[in-house]
Amino acid sequence: MATVRLENLRKTFDSGRLVAVDDLSISVDDGEFLTVVGPSGCGKSTTLRMIAGLERPTSGRVVIGGEDVTDTHARKRDVAMVFQNYALYPHKTVMGNMEFGLRMSTDLSKEERCERVRETAEMMDIEELLEDKPSELSGGQKQRVALGRAIVREPDVFLFDEPLSNLDAKLRTTMRTEIQRLQDELDITAIYVTHDQEEAMTMGDKIAILDDGELQQTGRPTDVYDDPANEFVGGFVGSPSMNVLDAAVTTSDDGVTLRGTRSDFEYRLPADRVPAFEGHDEVRMGIRPEDVRVAAADEAGIEATVDVVEPIGSDNYLYLDLGPEFIARVGSGVTPARGSTVRIAFDEADVHAFDARTGESLTRDRESAEVADDPAGERLERTAD
Ligand code: ATP
Repeated sequence: MATVRLENLRKTFDSGRLVAVDDLSISVDDGEFLTVVGPSGCGKSTTLRMIAGLERPTSGRVVIGGEDVTDTHARKRDVAMVFQNYALYPHKTVMGNMEFGLRMSTDLSKEERCERVRETAEMMDIEELLEDKPSELSGGQKQRVALGRAIVREPDVFLFDEPLSNLDAKLRTTMRTEIQRLQDELDITAIYVTHDQEEAMTMGDKIAILDDGELQQTGRPTDVYDDPANEFVGGFVGSPSMNVLDAAVTTSDDGVTLRGTRSDFEYRLPADRVPAFEGHDEVRMGIRPEDVRVAAADEAGIEATVDVVEPIGSDNYLYLDLGPEFIARVGSGVTPARGSTVRIAFDEADVHAFDARTGESLTRDRESAEVADDPAGERLERTAD
């Protein structure tokens, strides 16, 4: 078990022309499960490879268990990595694959190694596969073996690089739960890279969102969902994505008025919200599909035309003409006709506003933001002093 701290990590390729990871600082507590998520090419794998020692940082430090391992060879780091493509040796049996890592990383006798592999195989429910070769296994079984090979080493840190991407949806869900159960049971620090925001949100104790090599936000999944630091995070986390509308801002002693500049709507926020909007004439107003409802008869609402009604079983998605893709997620009993007008409403607490130029959130809870944005925990440590 160990903490992992990334300090101002930077990695460039192509003689510095391509910045894959830029000034990245994150800390992971002992036994914590961190998921790292972001679009393709944002630097997730490069980050993981630097932690594993497979890639050398251009600058910055990797600290595992309080020890600076930036210059330590991958084999000397007590980490085990699980890859998307399983990376099993095709000519070795499952036993051979699982035992091999132990041979490289411990001084155990062959008998002791086989015993440990058998124990792990039992825990993973793969003991009947021990004599099989990888070619005889299904994708799901291969990934269980790859996971077992990592677990048997009893590493300080687990690193997962999109391990479930090659599996079908049902198996992915099963394996998600399985990985969480094992990580929890073994209490091993884990860093899990994925491009799937749902996977990141459901699996992580903590989530880190990257874009273009830069950390956008870290925090507990619910905090990131409720209080995104910027428009990118607001749109990336949650499905369907947050609706975003361009709005002009007017403030007065009575409060804030947001008026649509590309679609016709008006929304008022009370006076205590004025300070957040001061100095901003235009904002991007965000509201999640699940926070939009059909307005009650006596409630002020925004009128919109229904473009499409999409049933998803439990709920209906109403595509409204307020924006390029403005979705209201409503109950399956709400089935307005296509082309009809509905009046929608949403709570003031669910309205997000982002700076039209920088994308930074204007409505974020500042106090929680200060703690969450201190990935290396320096503020907390300072407070403790
Ligand atoms: P994906 O989800 O598609 O795997 P990612 O978020 O894991 O993407 P990385 O693989 O870390 O992203 O890549 C980040 C950037 O660095 C990309 O622009 C990629 O092309 C570049 N890159 C990664 N490895 C190398 C390399 N060895 N040489 C040159 N460029 C690289």
